[in-house]
Amino acid sequence: MGVIKKLPVYAERIPGGSIITTTLESILHHGQASSLWYLLFGTACCAIELMCTGAARYDFDRLGMIFRASPRQSDLIIAAGTITKKMAPRLRRLYDQMAEPRYVIAMGGCTIKGGPFYYDTYAVEKGIEHIVPVDVYVPGCPPRPESLLEGCLTLQKKIKQQKMSDWQN
Ligand code: SF4
Repeated sequence: MGVIKKLPVYAERIPGGSIITTTLESILHHGQASSLWYLLFGTACCAIELMCTGAARYDFDRLGMIFRASPRQSDLIIAAGTITKKMAPRLRRLYDQMAEPRYVIAMGGCTIKGGPFYYDTYAVEKGIEHIVPVDVYVPGCPPRPESLLEGCLTLQKKIKQQKMSDWQN
């Protein structure tokens, strides 16, 4: 059994030691970041890349990312594809049905800013942030699965750094 000279406030690895000191908040955030169950909100071509990320080659599950079909069981919405104005209230309703803390990843140019539909259309929302708050943007048309994986790792990092007082949004 080793002696830890410098006690870490939060550590994933304790070299040579058997004592861990941490805070309840850190444990909660670590567990939360490591098991993000996501609601699929795929509406167009970007959703194909999202499905590809969940398949065997990229293996989303290894990050603790599990697809759920109900907002009641989800921590995160991954919005991937064009969001029409008719769809916007449904997206907001799904978001409102999720328990807090809840997160949103905006995947692809259409979700982020309307993409190729930014001009010359009356039917497409020009940015998901007008409907729900966004935590991570993953740009591209479409973004590759590697980009989405990086976006999820960024969200996990963000969750581990947040305070419980940040949960109200
Ligand atoms: S960003 Fe590009 S790939 Fe994604 S939904 Fe829009 S047009 Fe399709």
